[in-house]
Amino acid sequence: MIIIKSPEDIKKLKTACKISADVLKYAGEQINAGMSTYELDKLIYDFITAAGARPSFLGMYGFKGSACISINDEVIHGIPSKKTIIRSGDIVSIDVGAYINGYHGDNAYTYKVGAVSPSAEKLLRVTNECLHLGIAAAQPGNRVGDIGYAVQKHAEENGFSVVREYVGHGVGRDLHEEPEVPNYGKPGHLARLVPGMTIAIEPMINEGTANVKVMPDGWTVKTTDGKLSAHFEHTIAITEKGPVILTCADGDF
Ligand code: MG
Repeated sequence: MIIIKSPEDIKKLKTACKISADVLKYAGEQINAGMSTYELDKLIYDFITAAGARPSFLGMYGFKGSACISINDEVIHGIPSKKTIIRSGDIVSIDVGAYINGYHGDNAYTYKVGAVSPSAEKLLRVTNECLHLGIAAAQPGNRVGDIGYAVQKHAEENGFSVVREYVGHGVGRDLHEEPEVPNYGKPGHLARLVPGMTIAIEPMINEGTANVKVMPDGWTVKTTDGKLSAHFEHTIAITEKGPVILTCADGDF
């Protein structure tokens, strides 16, 4: 069932989303070559708890980190580890959520560390564009399939591929609510978007094949060809006037 939120619900959700966005921006400023993903995750935990919130992902389905930190050919769900060292030239996806006042926020951004390859630059740019095209398609009266279509079209026109196995979702009192929001699809298909729906749109776009595999740790998802993958995400609200991004940090982002 898709839960329609009242203006009061959305106000509370916005508080969670603001902390989620602030910590994501902060994490991007803290990334440095030589740092482990465990250290980065510790900074993320400290930031979220100092803001009076709880990391949404910590303990969820048994996850051990406050954020999912996925490097290069890792698509999503990278587990923070003392053994995983961030290096110059890497692209680092951080997916993080904060829970406060009964609501979750959820967002992701893929950062570059130092100079990266032209192909990596293009992948990051196009994936972020896919996210914003998906958001632009999230107009009241449109359907969930319109979002996926917009994302897929832009990714594939640029020579990239769309991960099928993992999708966006409703966000609210639960981190993962209905509906599922695929990053591929047909216009005019799936649920109709109506004011009060709050969803996370999160394209996962690959440089090469769309195929992915789960590693033996049971969490980390990688591309099967070892090529790069990028992930950008916002939590948005559908309003009468159109989509509104709730995961907005202070300043430019
Ligand atoms: Mg999400």
